[in-house]
Amino acid sequence: MTYKNLINGKWLDPLSNKYTENRNPADSGDLIGLFPASAKEDVDEAVKSARKAYEKWRLVPAPRRGDVLKLVSDKLTRRKDELAFEMTREMGKVIAETKGDVQEGIDTAYYAASEGRRLFGYNAPSELPNKMNLSFRVPVGVGGFITPWNFPMAIPTWKLFPALVCGNTCVFKPAELTPKTAHTLVEIIDESLHEVLGSAYIAGVINLVHGSGSVVGEAIINHPEIDLISFTGSTNVGKRINEVAGASLKRVSLEMGGKNAQIVMNDANQELALDAVLWGAFGTTGQRCTATSRLILHEKIHDEFLAKLIERAKKLKLGYGNDKGVDVGPCVSEGQRKTVDEYVKIGLKEDKAKLVLGGEIAQEGSLTKGWFYKPTIFSGVTRNMRIAREEIFGPVLSVLKARSLEEAIDILNDTKYGLSSSIFTQDVNSAFTAVRDIKAGITYINGATIGAEAHMPFGGVKETGNGHREGGWTVYDFYTEWKAVYVDYSGKLQRAQIDNY
Ligand code: NAD
Repeated sequence: MTYKNLINGKWLDPLSNKYTENRNPADSGDLIGLFPASAKEDVDEAVKSARKAYEKWRLVPAPRRGDVLKLVSDKLTRRKDELAFEMTREMGKVIAETKGDVQEGIDTAYYAASEGRRLFGYNAPSELPNKMNLSFRVPVGVGGFITPWNFPMAIPTWKLFPALVCGNTCVFKPAELTPKTAHTLVEIIDESLHEVLGSAYIAGVINLVHGSGSVVGEAIINHPEIDLISFTGSTNVGKRINEVAGASLKRVSLEMGGKNAQIVMNDANQELALDAVLWGAFGTTGQRCTATSRLILHEKIHDEFLAKLIERAKKLKLGYGNDKGVDVGPCVSEGQRKTVDEYVKIGLKEDKAKLVLGGEIAQEGSLTKGWFYKPTIFSGVTRNMRIAREEIFGPVLSVLKARSLEEAIDILNDTKYGLSSSIFTQDVNSAFTAVRDIKAGITYINGATIGAEAHMPFGGVKETGNGHREGGWTVYDFYTEWKAVYVDYSGKLQRAQIDNY
């Protein structure tokens, strides 16, 4: 099947007339479809339509905009299993996880729907008599949305749903590796706009332009008629976006890479900590921004915990994520698997690092059809090694040793990233010290580094983010401007700071 872009309310072939293949990473013989490799001109058309739609959409009452999101969430709920199956086919993670990915979209949609009835402003007393001070949230304008492949449903919904309910219009460029999920999501949003608005349907509220970062992504970030950019992806691309979009003073939200760590103290519940690290390091084949890629073990339990970890990790079953009993899916692409393998080779050359599990491409049976890599563990890793510092984005875990809580936190913080973090301890003093001293946007006490909830702020510090948060109430500050309004009913000219003192 050949797919199209959605521009100005119509499904159109790309002006480039070029397409790229989308294939199942667990079985490269399974062709999912052909998707547009759009041109800059497609982005121009999409922005034109979003700009025009903005002037109408911003005037639709926010609770009505919320009704659209309510219908979107109902449709996502009804289609959850089908969407999850197709997502697993498209990007590889196991079906339980893709169901979770869709559920995050559902939760985000219900939150956004109800926010249409809040979007609270603040009132404050005036310093002058017979005068009223109010403040309102107003939409920003046209947004450009650029997303990665690892959460093909959840991440776009974190951006598009709050943006839409606030009254912004959207030009959305999904990752090249997950266009099908994006297609279905946009189809559902557009259907819901039709059903809720009826004859008052506004074409161009949501536009979908498939294609590469270097053509479509660049056209979006450089476009003078785009007011805001919301990006999730690697730190290198985020830096480029900040430079380009910052030059024209666009509002920019960046969610970028991570090198997350789990600390296990000597007083921890070890079985719980084991479950968590297996889930954190090898869930989504390690391809989460919040994946556990460093495990910091207190020296007193190091050897015992590592032995148990290897035993448990050995039993993880690799396979096609839509098959029963599979724990770990493939890497998303041949390129991603190559990167993982290169990092393993780097690890093997690092002084004292010891490969204790995996470290190779999986070659057994049907696994040769996809981009599978065996769950891999290095022990003896120290903080300055490249495998302890750089984001690998695959099923590779580096194990480090610490002599104390302070040293463990110091190692955890010794990274340019700051997304997620975790500590396992039964000691309340250690737990609260970690909460205070860990430098990250998210800290779990006795939980894995992965597993955020849609109504909580999500994002990171240092080179992971630029100060904004997605999720929960905080994201609404990004998608609105504050307008202050003064109403003077005194019947005379009152001058603040002058007439009152
Ligand atoms: P990526 O940076 O390669 O691509 C992300 C998106 O940016 C894609 O849609 C891509 O086409 C686009 N892009 C690439 N070059 C561009 C350019 N010059 N201009 C505009 N757009 C461009 O990342 P990826 O490989 O898709 O995803 C993996 C990365 O995403 C990892 O670093 C991971 O940590 C990060 N990530 C972060 C979070 C978070 O919330 N912090 C969540 C998920 C993934």
